[in-house]
Amino acid sequence: MSTTTLDLADVQRLEIEHQPPLYAKREIALVRGEGPYLFDSEGRRYLDAMSNYGVAVLGHADPEYADALNDQLRTLATGHQSFYSDVRAELLAELSAIAPEGLGRSFLSNSGAEAIEAAIKFARVATGRSSLVAAKRGYHGRTLGALAATADQKYRAPFEPLAPATTHVAFNDADALAAAVDETTAAILLEPIQGEGGIWPASAEYLQAAREIADARGALLIADEIQTGFRTGAPWAMSASGVTPDILVTAKALANGFPIGLTMMTEAVSAAIPAGGHGTTFGANPLACRAALVTLRALRDRGLYARATATGARLMAGLDALGSPKIRQVRGRGMMIGVELKERVTPTLRALQERGVLVLPAGATTFRLLPPLVWANGQVDEFLQVAGEVLG
Ligand SMILES: *Cc1c(COP(=O)(O)O)cnc(C)c1O
Repeated sequence: MSTTTLDLADVQRLEIEHQPPLYAKREIALVRGEGPYLFDSEGRRYLDAMSNYGVAVLGHADPEYADALNDQLRTLATGHQSFYSDVRAELLAELSAIAPEGLGRSFLSNSGAEAIEAAIKFARVATGRSSLVAAKRGYHGRTLGALAATADQKYRAPFEPLAPATTHVAFNDADALAAAVDETTAAILLEPIQGEGGIWPASAEYLQAAREIADARGALLIADEIQTGFRTGAPWAMSASGVTPDILVTAKALANGFPIGLTMMTEAVSAAIPAGGHGTTFGANPLACRAALVTLRALRDRGLYARATATGARLMAGLDALGSPKIRQVRGRGMMIGVELKERVTPTLRALQERGVLVLPAGATTFRLLPPLVWANGQVDEFLQVAGEVLG
């Protein structure tokens, strides 16, 4: 239930007048959600094919999630890490059950970019080196350290100079990676499937080569699973390649919308971090930990990993079957799908929204589906029906 009495014009005016002009806003105000659907201030229903950038994996206003957070709010919401916490301990146990082999240490923070900042600091202190090698089209966040690793000039240029020094190499090109990594490289930082850049999956061979190159040169391998985490049919997209990174970072889906970041690392990395060398006031508070705990349990107990694989395959097959002359390629894995068009994507985004479907862009010519994992076949059919009308 929304408590606001503002109408759409008031909402728009207040946001436009009182925020810096950072976001290109859509013309709707989202006020309520229910499972796979969102509702705007005018009562219009939208099929959510974006989960707010891959966040709401359990869908919106999930009763079990809401009850757990409500219970935690009535018990204890805030608690600094200089004290122990029962909920934090439970979350750490749950995380260790899904951690890639050897990544048994977890640092919790409050966002994706913050989790990347921690990864960069930890890689620097563990290697005694300072530079990074990352990929063209790669996206790692917009705080200053994370921004240095992000490739897009649109984000970087206004804020240069940026540190740590980062070399950006062509993605999925092992030779380019081998040529760029040297004795100054603290870490290779890669997304197993590039998200913002257009949904480009890394090949297993490429990730295996990255592991070998890092080992040969004494650098670490950091996997940025902030977007891929939990939606490709398994907790981690890296698993499909058989490659284990030294540090794995995730955020978006981990707590189904409660702000959180996670940096998982090996014993060796953990052992190199000096006491007091990093920290956060809000990180790993009981409320955030409870949100992640209930999300991880729901993902497992409701079979949502297998469902992401099945629903994603059905979506990709359905998109291919549209035979649309506008579609160049459909790419992705599980519930992380990119549809590259032969034309600019904005008119398609708008047409889908007008017909009650919300998707995201990923670059100039690609739209991206990051649906809640609770989509049933009915939502897939609904999406394909509308996509067929728009792209036919
Ligand atoms: C979203 C994202 C980030 C940044 O996360 P924020 O929570 O927005 O700071 C970093 N890397 C990847 C791959 C992302 O998708």
